[in-house]
Amino acid sequence: MVKFGRTTVLNKKRGTFSIKKLPIPTPDSGKLVIKVEMCGVCGTDIHMWQGHEGIVVTFPAPLGHEVVGKIIALGEGVEFDNLGNAVKEGDRIVIIPLVTCGSCYACTVLQEPAKCLNASAYGHQSIETGFTGGYSEYLYTNIPNTGFLKTDIPPEIAVSLEPTSIAVSGMKRVKPKVGDTAVVQGAGAIGLCTMIVAKESGVSKIIMVGKRKMRLELAKEFGADLIIDIDEVKDPEKRIEIVKNETKNGLGVDLVFECAGIPSAFKEGLQYLRYGGKFCELGHFTDTGSIEINPCTDVCAKMATIVGSWSSLPDDFIRALQILELRKYPVEKMITHRLPLERLEDAFKAMAGDKMLDGTEIIKAVIAL
Ligand SMILES: [Zn+2]
Ligand SMILES: [Zn+2]
Repeated sequence: MVKFGRTTVLNKKRGTFSIKKLPIPTPDSGKLVIKVEMCGVCGTDIHMWQGHEGIVVTFPAPLGHEVVGKIIALGEGVEFDNLGNAVKEGDRIVIIPLVTCGSCYACTVLQEPAKCLNASAYGHQSIETGFTGGYSEYLYTNIPNTGFLKTDIPPEIAVSLEPTSIAVSGMKRVKPKVGDTAVVQGAGAIGLCTMIVAKESGVSKIIMVGKRKMRLELAKEFGADLIIDIDEVKDPEKRIEIVKNETKNGLGVDLVFECAGIPSAFKEGLQYLRYGGKFCELGHFTDTGSIEINPCTDVCAKMATIVGSWSSLPDDFIRALQILELRKYPVEKMITHRLPLERLEDAFKAMAGDKMLDGTEIIKAVIAL
């Protein structure tokens, strides 16, 4: 007898979510089915819901790409994860949402598979593809060559693997040096994960510029050396002065990671940077607008390197997993809300609004099953 499971479907941009029942597939060769344990509600999903441009999604769509779950059925030939670990039914895995072809111009000649010309991603496809979003009871890896990693860390930690991999991807592009000082702008999940990865990459001093007390407290717990609360230090010029005073000769920091996803943060972040410093844009995965910069003072005279980072790949996931498996940072504390499928829209509305849900501020909401 065919069994059914539930998934959530967003009907259109700025639309509404509904729950749909689908038959649980028997996996074809090379594919597998997991029972989802947890899926992180990601800022990118909120932007897609709000209709911001920049990310391709085919509506009506089952969203959700930060997926951890247990294997319930393996198709023929599925024996190992991306690290070569043997897998079996009952194992916990994390899905690597972006699937690249490995053979197109971007994958081969440009060596930039994050921009694969034939890319597909979980949480971005039409409901016609079935259980391909993480805000579901099940997920079916029906895209050929889907990557996944087995892990024994609890779902509360494993669910942060995708945002941590985003931070790893950015870190690879700026290549911190031991002893560097960095500013991380934004104390949301990406900002907090970026702090962790920066520390593990040799950055010795981290200044967090953000807002909301709970998030900043967590940044402190994750090892921020200095916190600048923009609700307390309201004047950007003052913030720039504080940052520069923390650096050698007042020149500015070696690295800036923009994880706030606000155009004005990009402009301000450039002012924190020293001559020859590197600026990594990690917060704008959708188009939230433009900001004016001065090509002379902000870039040329500053000899700044401005780097954009997009998505993350299996090697980023593997490096991120090695960090999370150390259990050095209380990443599970980022989860402030565990919600059932029925409350997905509540989480989206709160995250798009004042970030308050059930009387508590959201740092990270997850759908927990
Ligand atoms: Zn995400
Ligand atoms: Zn490709």
